[in-house]
Amino acid sequence: MGTLWHYGYTGTDIDQLISVISDGGVLLDCRMSNRSRAKKWEGYNLRNVVTENGGIYVHAKGFGNANFRDSNAPMSLYNPDPFAKMAADYLKQGRHVVVMCACSDIDSCHRKLVLAFLNGWLHVEGRNDPDFTAPEYVESVAFDQPRMKMNYGTNGFPPVQAVPPGD
Ligand SMILES: [Zn+2]
Repeated sequence: MGTLWHYGYTGTDIDQLISVISDGGVLLDCRMSNRSRAKKWEGYNLRNVVTENGGIYVHAKGFGNANFRDSNAPMSLYNPDPFAKMAADYLKQGRHVVVMCACSDIDSCHRKLVLAFLNGWLHVEGRNDPDFTAPEYVESVAFDQPRMKMNYGTNGFPPVQAVPPGD
């Protein structure tokens, strides 16, 4: 079973991220749009750098906040199911999986919702598959932030609300 991490890249160095996902790790870019004014955080550049270092880059748009343009609207994951399944499969393969957004502070970032959603998903898989054991911790790759460890099963998350995919 791989390890599930989260990462907010603002103010960090890309080398720190690469060190975790080189050698078969998976970067789940959870921004609705993977465009950035900073070239190194542009989706196309991340894909190149991650791939060159032996990792896998996925623009996990379904883990994006569907209401990202409206800071007054509740955060809502756009279409999380297929990406939760993908993350679970990668974890089962023993890969590191990193849930990434721009925000340095997870408490104001929708990746907290992503982690809560994954938490639930992995536990349902664990109940349905006797050979599957959900990882015990989510660990942070937050080098410039306080290190965070969250127990699965804690209830400190806001309720998860999924918006069905549009056309
Ligand atoms: Zn964010």
